Amino acid sequence: MSTQYKTHQEGAKQFNKNPDRVTWHDKALWFVREKRDKSAHSIPEWEELREIASQIKAHSLSNLNGYLMQFEEKANANGVHVHWAKDAQEHNEIVHSILAKHEVKNVVKSKSMLTEECGLNPYLNDKGIEVVDTDLGERIVQLANEHPSHIVLPAIHKKKEEVGELFHKHLNTEKGASDPTYLTGAAREHLREKFLNADAAITGINFAIAETGGFVVCTNEGNVDMGANLAPVHIACMGIEKLIPKVEHLGVFLRLLARSATGQAITTYSSHFHKPADGKELHIVLVDNGRTEQLGREDFRKSLNCIRCGACMNTCPIYRRSGGHSYTYTIPGPIGAILSPGKDLKKHSSLPFASTLCGSCSDVCPVKIDIHMQLYKWRQLVMKETNYDKSKQIGMKFAGKAMGSPTLFNLIGKMGNIFLKGPRALIYNGLNAWGIDRELPVPTETFDDWYKQNGKKNEQ
Ligand code: SF4
Repeated sequence: MSTQYKTHQEGAKQFNKNPDRVTWHDKALWFVREKRDKSAHSIPEWEELREIASQIKAHSLSNLNGYLMQFEEKANANGVHVHWAKDAQEHNEIVHSILAKHEVKNVVKSKSMLTEECGLNPYLNDKGIEVVDTDLGERIVQLANEHPSHIVLPAIHKKKEEVGELFHKHLNTEKGASDPTYLTGAAREHLREKFLNADAAITGINFAIAETGGFVVCTNEGNVDMGANLAPVHIACMGIEKLIPKVEHLGVFLRLLARSATGQAITTYSSHFHKPADGKELHIVLVDNGRTEQLGREDFRKSLNCIRCGACMNTCPIYRRSGGHSYTYTIPGPIGAILSPGKDLKKHSSLPFASTLCGSCSDVCPVKIDIHMQLYKWRQLVMKETNYDKSKQIGMKFAGKAMGSPTLFNLIGKMGNIFLKGPRALIYNGLNAWGIDRELPVPTETFDDWYKQNGKKNEQ
């Protein structure tokens, strides 16, 4: 499921119509980034952990076929039903067939970006099944009829006052109330009733372990445990890249995940599932949906290392100032911008350009994905294979020519110098996107003139 905008620029423009929101969104995410830094720096072996995690992922992805077969065999032996889905449609059909068999009408679902990716909620709603998202942030965006704007903090774009209004409308809380403790209490009461009446629970999976056939789901709210332990049927949906070979590898990822996501040493609940409880059913749906194709793209396969911590979003200056809904793909931010072009290059052609290529995303990534390099490579493919913004190509060709000729470069420098001293309206007008919110300093001389006067002197 994608967002409503055709390009990232369009969505960013919309988000920036409210400068106050942009400022606190930026600050809120930078606060999380700082918590992450503090937490990561408290572990001397942090870089070693990142390297080990990256190597485990590289090994798992290179041997994915074997590990998936091993996982299925072990899970089956544990009494778990394992299903394979080649795409989103098949995933949704499988989930629905399980629910239909049990005549399920009410489902509680914990946070799962995979089910967002597959558009599971609207699919099940169309079949007459109510799906209630039980993560607080997810429930907020669900009540607002929106998509998550962040993979870890789905409602980060909403102010507590907006949540108060939403809860007043849907949960009958006091009008004007925006105290987070009060609102959380109301949500807890509302969700408890949903948990108690659910016929089935759907969860995501953070890590599945080939050698045991078990899996782990991480939450801070315990909603996975409430759902999966109360309902008679538990369906866990997982992208095939979430597999790790051994239990001993789990510690590496759990230490990295929580610290990178929120700065916590560990998520409040790391819930392990191995087999169904007596009299209950446990299903796992293994989903491809374009992952094997991405695996075959040498330049981009490392994107499958992702453990969905959200750190690349929190650090990204573009994401922080354009908001998650400005992206044209379910997963926003830098990681979404390198996963989405593989799904539909034309549709998501604007996303690889939603970056300064500063490399901060790659620096914080706990599994060492070379995100900014992949963005750069997708840009080249977009320009080669789509009609995306040809003016950029013309501009770059011109810049290449200018930089290849000192005479032309100096001439442009001199002309620019005169131009920048000209009437303000020539620079700051509707035709110049760079002039919005940016003031250029008034130039005094060109670099060439400066160098002629000072360069030799400074070299001595
Ligand atoms: S790409 Fe890296 S930093 Fe971004 S969400 Fe995935 S694991 Fe986290």
